[in-house]
Amino acid sequence: MRLVSHPVLCNYYVTYRCNASCSFCDIWEKPSPYITVDNLKENIRDLKRLGVKVIDFTGGEPLLHRQLDIMLKEAKDQGMITTVTSNGLLYPKYAERLKGLIDMLHFSLDSPDREEHDKSRNVKCFDKVMESIEIAKSLGERPDIIFTVFEDNVHKIRQLWEEICLPNNLVLILNPVFEYNGVGGNLSEGALKEMLWWGKQKNVYLNEAFIQLRLDGGNHVEDSICKAASTTLVISPENKLVLPCYHLGLKDFPIENNLYELYQSEEVQKLVALEGKLPACEGCAINCYMQPSFAVEVNKYWWKALPSTLKYNMIKGTWKQMVGF
Ligand code: SF4
Ligand code: SF4
Repeated sequence: MRLVSHPVLCNYYVTYRCNASCSFCDIWEKPSPYITVDNLKENIRDLKRLGVKVIDFTGGEPLLHRQLDIMLKEAKDQGMITTVTSNGLLYPKYAERLKGLIDMLHFSLDSPDREEHDKSRNVKCFDKVMESIEIAKSLGERPDIIFTVFEDNVHKIRQLWEEICLPNNLVLILNPVFEYNGVGGNLSEGALKEMLWWGKQKNVYLNEAFIQLRLDGGNHVEDSICKAASTTLVISPENKLVLPCYHLGLKDFPIENNLYELYQSEEVQKLVALEGKLPACEGCAINCYMQPSFAVEVNKYWWKALPSTLKYNMIKGTWKQMVGF
């Protein structure tokens, strides 16, 4: 049973540029402009009309956009829930300007060891993440740590949880690595089971539906679970609507101050109807789209996702905002 039929989320790529070059990501290799505030204002107007409630200002590294604070304020003024994930390199510089504008602020950390984390990100950012945590807390923000779990760092969860998350009262979000276009990776059943155990511990968030999906072999084109394009609008730094999802990026359409009509056009809706059913969709487990997919239709993944959603919102006190999501 589908609970929500309109899109709920916008993955807004403010730029593809990044000041890190992680081994499990290829986005930083793309040349890219930055979005403009004018385009953002036009698009927020239409996102609201389409029913979108959450904007994830993403990238690349979103803090590379020098007007991120202005854009976040615009989104907040229009009643949107905002989310930003940062590698922490620029947060200390812009923290004051961003204060109070990000509902869900995540810092990426893949290891409790400085050298290991910096090696995975290809840049010295561990110390910046630590500094960012301190600054964010001093400003009254409540950041989370997002830990991308690989086969070779799953055993580091305990150390990171004990040494960094618990002392700072931070939620540890476990984000299982996914594979796309030959980038990223997969996890063994042993690692998935370990994650399930961790998901039950204090201040740890794990969407169990992510694990179930992997145990089930990912999305299957014959009986597709993916609702990427019907739940999530992807906007590129060139101000184009990308379909059916960023990672597949089959087609893009210039928005030209016309997002509302464009999204509802026959050509776009034809691609929306192909979500999860294209050859490349077989086995897909891309978290960014599966999370909203699991939220809008009651099925076994919805039930698996429910406890962690409630847990996160209770810890963070954000459940009031999410009512009606
Ligand atoms: S920090 Fe994020 S966007 Fe940048 S290279 Fe790493 S994973 Fe990709
Ligand atoms: S199954 Fe994966 S690749 Fe296919 S549309 Fe959904 S998110 Fe994109």
